[in-house]
Amino acid sequence: MAEMEMNLKCSSCGSDQFEYPEEAKADDTVKCTGCGATARYGDLQAQAEEEAMKLVTSALDKSFGDLARKHPPGNRSGVSITYKKG
Ligand SMILES: [Zn+2]
Repeated sequence: MAEMEMNLKCSSCGSDQFEYPEEAKADDTVKCTGCGATARYGDLQAQAEEEAMKLVTSALDKSFGDLARKHPPGNRSGVSITYKKG
């Protein structure tokens, strides 16, 4: 039922076509249709998640980096904000 969108890529031949059970579990074997290399589904899943995290992290880094360049911290251009208590 759950559709897994994973960008798998064979490290041996670079193919992105894999054979695996419809409801693959972590200890099921995934087979590359390009060269026949096999890997554990759980390992690939962890790898894919790691890659996804890296992408997200670098995308965040990029946009926060842009923000930091546009609005450098400590840039006091004559504007000051004071908070009053009460
Ligand atoms: Zn392969």
